[in-house]
Amino acid sequence: MRVALLTRLIRTIALDRALARVVRRDLSLCCAWFSHAVLLLRLPFTVAYDRPDMELTFAIIKPDAVKARFTGPIIQRIEEAGFQIRAMRLRQLTQKDAEGFYAVHKERPFFASLTTFMSSGPVVVLALEAPDAIKTWRALMGATDPAKAEPGTLRKEFGASIENNATHGSDAPETAAFELGYFFPGIELR
Ligand code: GDP
Repeated sequence: MRVALLTRLIRTIALDRALARVVRRDLSLCCAWFSHAVLLLRLPFTVAYDRPDMELTFAIIKPDAVKARFTGPIIQRIEEAGFQIRAMRLRQLTQKDAEGFYAVHKERPFFASLTTFMSSGPVVVLALEAPDAIKTWRALMGATDPAKAEPGTLRKEFGASIENNATHGSDAPETAAFELGYFFPGIELR
């Protein structure tokens, strides 16, 4: 009689433990699913509301500035001005790349010279983010001709001539979209 009771007791304890193990495993699975569900539910809000007041622009540190070792100082100025660098690459453009990029200027008398210059050495291409990034970056670059650029602007400080003017920046949202797509195709920039 006592032996039978003892055996039942042991079986009950063993069953309880097995049950507890199952409950524990199910609970942690539940927790994991719950946190995944929360993350998934938050995703659209993260994408939509993360940086609603931000704009992206496209910038180039041109071959003259890269060659003169102005890449570092220009990037420092970019960061000091509050831009977030969303993408950055060192590229050697071919003449064809430069012609495609500056296609809007193909009727201009300086087109051949400009595309030869732009493919004459490595450039640094960047995707920059800030509130009002397009205007802010153009203001930081200054006028096309360094001789006419305001003191403190990048072209004044680092540019040598109207062609070798150190930096490029998109001039409108449509241009920025085209130029970012030209140099960072298929890359998630935000
Ligand atoms: P940006 O928007 O200030 O860069 O000026 P543009 O879109 O008018 O010109 C594109 C680039 O062409 C400039 O950044 C210069 O490198 C070059 N460029 C502009 N005007 C002249 C020019 O009169 N002569 C030469 N040689 N190059 C020029």
